[in-house]
Amino acid sequence: MNILIIGSGGRECAFAWKLSQSEKCTNLFIAPGNAGTANYGKNVNINPNDFEAVKALALKEKIELLVVGPEEPLVLGIHDFFVNDEELKHIPVIGPKKEGAILEGSKDFSKQFMERHDIPTAKSKSFTNENLQAGIDYLANHTLPIVLKADGLAAGKGVLIIDNHKEAQDELQLMLGGKFGNAGSTVVVEEFLTGIELSVFVLSDGKNYVILPEAKDYKRIGQGDTGLNTGGMGSVSPVPFANAEFLNKIEERIIKPTVNGLASEGIDYTGFIFFGLIKVGEEPYVIEYNARMGDPETESVIPRIENDLVELFLASANKELGSYEIKISQKNAATVVIVAGGYPGEYEKGKAISGLENVRDSYVFHAGTALEGGIVKTNGGRVLAISSIKDTQFEALQCATADAARIYFDGKYFREDIGFDLT
Ligand code: AMP
Repeated sequence: MNILIIGSGGRECAFAWKLSQSEKCTNLFIAPGNAGTANYGKNVNINPNDFEAVKALALKEKIELLVVGPEEPLVLGIHDFFVNDEELKHIPVIGPKKEGAILEGSKDFSKQFMERHDIPTAKSKSFTNENLQAGIDYLANHTLPIVLKADGLAAGKGVLIIDNHKEAQDELQLMLGGKFGNAGSTVVVEEFLTGIELSVFVLSDGKNYVILPEAKDYKRIGQGDTGLNTGGMGSVSPVPFANAEFLNKIEERIIKPTVNGLASEGIDYTGFIFFGLIKVGEEPYVIEYNARMGDPETESVIPRIENDLVELFLASANKELGSYEIKISQKNAATVVIVAGGYPGEYEKGKAISGLENVRDSYVFHAGTALEGGIVKTNGGRVLAISSIKDTQFEALQCATADAARIYFDGKYFREDIGFDLT
């Protein structure tokens, strides 16, 4: 089977690593991919949002399965594009159509969806320029801190947590005034929830689902979870505070009503649902939905899946997940992300990476890397994800952290404390 993965991050590198292990995978293509995905398949340098270019590639290489990594092409409708094209419609797509990706593409939609299906989440109200004054009045009496969220995709920057009424009112006006472009033309004002966050993932076939290993990611740039938010500095799986009872609550109160809710609204959802959750006391609440896997959670989750990933994807595409048995390793995974100096602010690219061959006991999933004249160079903010899988979480964390230290490039930085708070 010829398979095409869309994307270029550590998540896609982990997919490529796992898919390439399947006997069912004949040829693997990654568009555009990175220096690491080139070890598992052929990179093709096209823009994932250029659907005509994706089509030309799919036809040329006789692609039989499309796996979409990032949210943007999903929200823009790559699945719909395939379904509506005579020459592409036979190709199964892992990733929801636009009508499903809206769970991530519109926070206002997702809040209303949760309300319709009685799914626990923070209380909220949405505002646009049409009812700006009502929004300002609403904020005047809101408990602090206040969470303001741009409705649409804002490259991970559209959520503000504000400790002061006046500032929240000013920010509401700035957001509605275009601070995040069109993404902020509706703003969700939400109650702040206090608790500890975790991510739970399912693969859905529109009716049935399988639950994948849960994970916790570390978003802040600095040790001790301080400083600016990033795309993610590391992750662990499993999550020690998510015991069987808590995971059962998540399945009953959140996963089932979400999958059933999508089906009951006529949304045929084939792909990953990423539940961004928070544990408040002993109760799970949804902070957000995403329509794809998380990064760097994927790099800890995928190595714990023991099934053939091509078979799992085909079971989803063929609506056979109801009888699919997912096998999860009992081992512990830890991922440490190495980033470019300056990230998440400005950073330089094109730094030569050395020491990759010195990694002893971890998988190296490339993210922002490129091959230039046979040399692996940095090509993004998050450069490499180092993942270790061991009998204990402490061992996995130690291995991944030690291996991250064995790699070098100018300006290199990684957090040495990922996951140790949980051990
Ligand atoms: P989101 O893009 O919705 O995941 O929000 C980004 C981050 O903001 C989350 O990972 C949380 O850390 C935080 N956040 C979002 N909504 C809330 C909330 N209602 N209460 C507390 N923290 C939140």
